[in-house]
Amino acid sequence: MNDALRGRIRRRARYRCEYCRLPQSAVSTRHQIEHVIAEQHRGDDDESNLALACTHCNLHKGPNIAGRDPLTEELCRLYHPRSDRWSEHFAWEGPRLIGLTPVGRTTVQVLDMNDPLMVETREALIQFRRFKP
Ligand SMILES: [Zn+2]
Repeated sequence: MNDALRGRIRRRARYRCEYCRLPQSAVSTRHQIEHVIAEQHRGDDDESNLALACTHCNLHKGPNIAGRDPLTEELCRLYHPRSDRWSEHFAWEGPRLIGLTPVGRTTVQVLDMNDPLMVETREALIQFRRFKP
């Protein structure tokens, strides 16, 4: 993966985490370019398989591509930033992220997107008008 490709991925994401939408400008740790389908599952380096993710989301996602819907306990794939529409699967309830669909709920769960520290961070960003849910 070269610098030009990395730059394209960051610009395409508008410098926000493509899962929790945390803006790069709000945190000191650099958002990471991740494989939506991990290499372990034969995902490649094509732009269609790359996304920008904050450290929190990326670390929790790891090589996962699925999880269990917390509502039904059914096996379900994770959100795919290239082929899914964010607003179809997620909504904000103040600083908390709500999964609207099995994919949304499973992704919120696996990526631990409402970890208290993340919710606290969003609350502060909202208060200082650096993040608008
Ligand atoms: Zn994130």
